[in-house]
Amino acid sequence: MIVLKTKRELSAMREAGRVAARALRLAGEAVQPGISTWEIDRIARRYIEEQGAVPTFLGYGGFPASSCISVNHVVIHGIPSKDVIVREGDIVSIDIGATYEGFVGDNAFTFPCGKISAQAQALLQTTQESLYEGIKAAQVGNRIGDVGSAVQRYVEARGYSVVRNFVGHGVGAKMHEDPSVPNYGTPGRGVRLMQGMTIAIEPMINQGVYDVKTLADGWTTVTADGKLSAHFEHTVAITSDGPVILTLPD
Ligand code: MG
Repeated sequence: MIVLKTKRELSAMREAGRVAARALRLAGEAVQPGISTWEIDRIARRYIEEQGAVPTFLGYGGFPASSCISVNHVVIHGIPSKDVIVREGDIVSIDIGATYEGFVGDNAFTFPCGKISAQAQALLQTTQESLYEGIKAAQVGNRIGDVGSAVQRYVEARGYSVVRNFVGHGVGAKMHEDPSVPNYGTPGRGVRLMQGMTIAIEPMINQGVYDVKTLADGWTTVTADGKLSAHFEHTVAITSDGPVILTLPD
């Protein structure tokens, strides 16, 4: 069931989104050679809790941390760990949700650690740009397939592939609401976008093949070929004035 939000609910979601975005920014500033992903997670968690918000991911389906931190060939759902030390040249995908006054903000960003290769930089840039291509297509009257195909067309034209096994989603009082928001699709197909819908658009883009596999911990999802993957996400409101990004820090 798709839950449409009122103007008042959208402004509450903007507050939740702001907490999530600021936590993500702080976590990203902590990405330096030598830090563990556990320490990065702790920074995000502390910030969220200081705001009187709740880290949405903590305990979700049994997930043990407040953020997913996925390094290099890890696509999503990396579990923060004292044993995972970030090194110069790594790319570090951080995904953070915050629940504030009953609503969830969900966002992700892939941060470079120090100087990264030109290939890694190109992957990050294309993935981030593809998110904005998807957001641009999130207009009242368009369909979910218009969003996905905008992302897919953009990244495939540049030689990358779109992860199929994981997709974006509606977001609101719950982190995962209807509809599913694939990062691939056919223009003009799927659910029609309406004023008051709020969706998380989150391209997961691979340097090599789109196939992924989940490790024995049940969470950590890696590229099947071991090549790099990037992940950018915003929570977006569909409004008659066009798409509005709710996960902005300021
Ligand atoms: Mg999400």
